[in-house]
Amino acid sequence: MIIIMLGAPATGKGTVASILSKRLNVPQLSTGDLFRKNISEKTELGIMAEEYISKGNLVPDEVTINMIIKRLNEDDTKNGAILDGFPRTIPQAEALDKFLADKNIKIDMVLNLTTPEEEIIQRVVTRRVCSNPHCKTIYNTKLNPPKIEGICDKCGSKVITRKDDNVEAIKTRLKQYFKLTNPLVDFYDKKGVLTTEEVSEKINRMGKDVAEDIAQKLLKK
Ligand code: AMP
Repeated sequence: MIIIMLGAPATGKGTVASILSKRLNVPQLSTGDLFRKNISEKTELGIMAEEYISKGNLVPDEVTINMIIKRLNEDDTKNGAILDGFPRTIPQAEALDKFLADKNIKIDMVLNLTTPEEEIIQRVVTRRVCSNPHCKTIYNTKLNPPKIEGICDKCGSKVITRKDDNVEAIKTRLKQYFKLTNPLVDFYDKKGVLTTEEVSEKINRMGKDVAEDIAQKLLKK
């Protein structure tokens, strides 16, 4: 099963992907997490990627494509994956199409999440994440703070603010999203695999609500 998470930053892709991963029993592959792991381990890839990520820019296609294809060839993804944050450009989507076509695998769903822009900015500045790469629980200082400030409820590790979760970087990330990633909505709509869901406090529908509905839908298939 291949599910692609699409949507601007902080629309809830990570939250939805993590719930779907558990409910459908397929791994969540987050390019952002893979980059952050490389950054914390100070690998060559991480040092290079940090230059782009800290400013809110996309990492070049070639590097990103090679990294995810390598990951998709690992054994645990043989029954599928939830792609969280990839593809983010048309060339990335084309490279993924080629990889999947070679293996005769089809895309089950592209889940496109939308959130009003002012809510995105608010969410980014209040977002906190567990620093433990095996946990990665997402918190929000307003809506869903950890019980003890700065400590993850689930694993006890430090809860931190991502380096690119600041107003300046999010503005760049949003610009990049509309220029480079949003064209994928049309790209996948034309293939007939797109499902769009709004995630917003305004309609009282958050990531976990969307994830539950989509999991039910996919499990019934
Ligand atoms: P995320 O955790 O998905 O918000 O990703 C964090 C950052 O990693 C993004 O703002 C980009 O700088 C970089 N990144 C993640 N996925 C990709 C991708 N598919 N292509 C290029 N850059 C990416």
